Amino acid sequence: MLEKEKNKKDLMDHFSVVVEDGKGFKAVPYTEAWKAEMEAVAVELEAAAAVLGDDEAAFKTYLRAAAGSFRSNDWEPANEAWVAMGPTNSKWYLRVAPDEVYHDPCAWKAGFALQLARINPESIAWQQKLEPVKGEMEKQLAAFAGAPYKARNVAFKLPDFIDVALNAADQRNPHGATIGQSLPNWGKVSEKGGRTVVMTNLYTDADSRQTLSDQAASLFCRATFEGFTTEPAAALLSVVLHEASHNLGPSHDYAVKGKTDDVIFGGPLASTMEELKAQTSALFFTWWLVEKGLLTEAEAKHATLRDVAWAFGHVSRGMYDSEGRARPYSHLASIQLGHMFKEGVLTWKADEQAANGSDTGCFEVDVAKWKPAVNTLTARVLQAKGRGDRKAAEDMKATFVDAKDTWAGLRVTIAERWLRAPKATFVYAVKE
Ligand SMILES: [Zn+2]
Repeated sequence: MLEKEKNKKDLMDHFSVVVEDGKGFKAVPYTEAWKAEMEAVAVELEAAAAVLGDDEAAFKTYLRAAAGSFRSNDWEPANEAWVAMGPTNSKWYLRVAPDEVYHDPCAWKAGFALQLARINPESIAWQQKLEPVKGEMEKQLAAFAGAPYKARNVAFKLPDFIDVALNAADQRNPHGATIGQSLPNWGKVSEKGGRTVVMTNLYTDADSRQTLSDQAASLFCRATFEGFTTEPAAALLSVVLHEASHNLGPSHDYAVKGKTDDVIFGGPLASTMEELKAQTSALFFTWWLVEKGLLTEAEAKHATLRDVAWAFGHVSRGMYDSEGRARPYSHLASIQLGHMFKEGVLTWKADEQAANGSDTGCFEVDVAKWKPAVNTLTARVLQAKGRGDRKAAEDMKATFVDAKDTWAGLRVTIAERWLRAPKATFVYAVKE
């Protein structure tokens, strides 16, 4: 109905409420509809800016700009100051703005979100370790891809890795929490790429770690489970390597005979292939870092078993959503585990007790065979992307995602056991 109104453009604006005025509808800016509340927020933001020192100049500037936007309803100045913040000039991450539209039945109106976080220090340490070897990493992937792909001069454009301290307002979900986000959604700053964050401390609390341990113990056999850890560091490494690998090898803007991946593979398969490239490269680089002396073998083993557990989690969500759309992460997880299963690295012991002692049938991971199997898969994925070989990509999907075989049957078992765990509700606390 609103879309048919003469003033539909105003009515469909993201930062206004719609009010019936007798003749029709009018758009009332947030700053008028909630004048007192937004003024109160602005005052708090300015008070926060006032207690920060010169070492947090960028954060101070953002707080003041955000206060201004809470009074003007023009969010661009705040967005400008926000993207100017980052791990190099602040220890903090804050986003306070009307952003996502999930909460609105029409998905037009932005909901107010507040997220306060610390920049994750370990992720910065990893970025500093990887920076000097990024050229070598690119050469490794180029060697896997082969012609026509050629190693590029790469720059790491990594997301900010953050440890959430507080999620409030529409950023706070009844259960679970957003684990990655690119903002803002509209405007000039958005067109320039905005800012992307990955939340690194979610599910690292004691309860979540116990849940993960129980899930892993229901699927791993005892010998494998003994090498498994719920230590946050094992998962963080994989996240950093995954994000770094998006910058390496054939990516979204790489073209074969003038065609980019979206054109070659089609949208959903292109997403799966890019995510598969990033995550498979992460598996490969984990062990490459051992050769470089940047990681111990024990750390690599921990990361590897966490990667398998990560893949179990994505497999458990199913390959397609309720509307039949492919889930890229589930597809990539099924391709990776399916490949490991076929190579005899991941084996199913039908008669053996799982590590929890109550489930019959469990997976064993042969870490000694892992590396060569990862190399084979990395080559297969990188070659398909590098050559723009749609058939090779479709073959992988047909074999490891859509086939009705033993592996598909085992995915049902994975889902049954993994999904027993209750969903987490996060409680946030700030300790002084
Ligand atoms: Zn990714």
